[in-house]
Amino acid sequence: MADQPARAQVRSATNRREVNVRAGPGTGLDLLFKAPVGAEGQVLDARPDAVENGFQGKVYQWLRLRFEDGREGWVRDDLLDLLPGDFSAVGYGHVQTPIHAFSLIRDLSAAPPVPEPPAPEPVDPVEPREMIGCAAIVIGARGAINVRSGPGQNHPVVLQYLRGTRVSVLEVRADSAGGPLRWVRADHQGRMGWVREDLLSFRGDDCVALDLFTPGLYPAPFAPGEYWWIRGFTGPQPDHPGWDLGALQSEPVLAGAAGVVLTSFQAAKVTAERPRTIDHGLTLGDPRVFSDPGWGFGYGHYVIVRYTSELLPEATRRVLAERGMAGAGVAVMYAHLHARSVEAGAMLAAGQTIGLCGTTGNSEAPHLHLEVRAIRNPAETGWARMRDGLIEPGVLFNR
Ligand SMILES: [Zn+2]
Repeated sequence: MADQPARAQVRSATNRREVNVRAGPGTGLDLLFKAPVGAEGQVLDARPDAVENGFQGKVYQWLRLRFEDGREGWVRDDLLDLLPGDFSAVGYGHVQTPIHAFSLIRDLSAAPPVPEPPAPEPVDPVEPREMIGCAAIVIGARGAINVRSGPGQNHPVVLQYLRGTRVSVLEVRADSAGGPLRWVRADHQGRMGWVREDLLSFRGDDCVALDLFTPGLYPAPFAPGEYWWIRGFTGPQPDHPGWDLGALQSEPVLAGAAGVVLTSFQAAKVTAERPRTIDHGLTLGDPRVFSDPGWGFGYGHYVIVRYTSELLPEATRRVLAERGMAGAGVAVMYAHLHARSVEAGAMLAAGQTIGLCGTTGNSEAPHLHLEVRAIRNPAETGWARMRDGLIEPGVLFNR
């Protein structure tokens, strides 16, 4: 029996009916398909979680499986049972009886050597510099971002960083291809290369001197590492008047500071089975949606929070003053929510949950649309009448 090939089965002892099968060993990697509880597959490989996520101090392992229908992909070890067989090639030895994969420790000392992935191409040589101390988290995409050999798209890709990877910033340069955004030379455990600045979330005061971080701005409205960048502000409608931040469905959306809920809106046409306009035969961006309260004017379920002038970051107040709006408060729209957690009039504390990320209204996939409008008239409570106060969310939020 011990010579049986290594096989694993999607565990029934979870509260799910199916599990995600991904393109690599991390939840930041693309979802390929779902496998039902009970599905079996041959174990081809095992790797630790790409960003070292774990549970109770133990890093998750991921197993690459070839399922019976021939499809292949990676499944996390807490969702799998190993079936009796020989797992020595992936460090689990001989398994005698079905066992929860997460309960085992991989021991590769007796395993045949696993070929190392090919070494990345050398990055353009740059003389070492003193540590700057500025750290960042990769937010650039749901999965992985490209890391290049130089500061521009014209340089070849040398490696990739997964979303959630923590990097150190080594230096910052202008785009070598003339683009408006700067590029950062980043280091993750010796894996170095260049990344465009908008694909990173910078952390802390050591990034201030590099002009990558504005102290005092509100943090992005999700827990660090739990969101990704989709697109930024390009201007008022019909352009994109806010930020779109991707996150998993039901990821909590967090208030930036103490504030008051101006509006908490339930879109009547949203249903659990068909939350999106496109589930109702409408095309994305159908103009009729934006005048339809049944669709929350396109925003789906949404919450608008007012942050008063006194509690705005110093840098935000300065920008508002420069634009002739000294003393203005700010209203922030948190849109496409799966569920709202607060009602109009509620006082919020910084970091309090406003609602859960969703894909209601004019939305394709779970994400948060974040839109910021300065309130010129303090008595104003109507979102539409604040249209002329529209500002780029980066005036108030750090990415
Ligand atoms: Zn948007």
